[in-house]
Amino acid sequence: MKVSKCFNRKILNPCNLEMYDYQMDPYIGCEHFCNYCYALNEAETDWEKEIMIHDEFIERLSQALSKIEPQTIYIGVDTDPYQPSESTFRQTGKLLELFAKRGFSVCILTKSGLVTRDIDLFTKMPDSSVGISIAFQNEQTRQLFEKSAPLNKERIEALEKLKDAGIDTYTMISPVMPFITDVESLIEAVASFLNTIWIYRLQIESEESPSWHNIQSILNKHFPDLTEKYRRIAFSEYHPFWLELKQKLKEIQIEKDLNFKIEL
Ligand code: SF4
Repeated sequence: MKVSKCFNRKILNPCNLEMYDYQMDPYIGCEHFCNYCYALNEAETDWEKEIMIHDEFIERLSQALSKIEPQTIYIGVDTDPYQPSESTFRQTGKLLELFAKRGFSVCILTKSGLVTRDIDLFTKMPDSSVGISIAFQNEQTRQLFEKSAPLNKERIEALEKLKDAGIDTYTMISPVMPFITDVESLIEAVASFLNTIWIYRLQIESEESPSWHNIQSILNKHFPDLTEKYRRIAFSEYHPFWLELKQKLKEIQIEKDLNFKIEL
């Protein structure tokens, strides 16, 4: 994997999530290279071969933080902060050290068990939370859509470790792939040790999106009966498939006394 530098790029950006004012990505690009990733629309490099890191990352981040009040910042919007290069470059680890020193907190999302390496740093922050995303209950199917991402088993073990260490944890079931993701069985897999679960539907901008081209070719090869159904469901949030799933999830939430954030 080639890791090149980008220069003078803004590090801290306004956050689209209403709970946070700012978001940031310690890497540009993502080695996990999930086929459905919405960030592929903006990919600047071929993620199978090259990702980028900010030049003078910590110095520039330190300057940006000095202009705002200590608060929680969302990490991992268009990249995974614990992709394999983190083992070597430790951009995320260094960021967390700085945050802890300055009284900032993070809400961080990853697919990797590498996140447990920084448990002590999360505990030093006033209000941090760590999320792990999963989308497939079956390893074989998972490999089709996200072959370079860590195994589900590694993710669930990481969640348990984080929870045991007293970190505020959540799962993000995302993306819900119609007729492929078994949302109920994924809820079952995590509900015994945590109760905040974010559930996001598959979101594809248009039929021209790289993610749609990737998904379509996997469906054509492995689930040929689903391609046309996806074409109708994936682009419409008001499709009955989503409305029925939303209703079912509301019932499960009440029945099992869980806390869902549903974005279907
Ligand atoms: S891990 Fe997240 S950011 Fe990385 S490719 Fe997969 S979906 Fe995209």
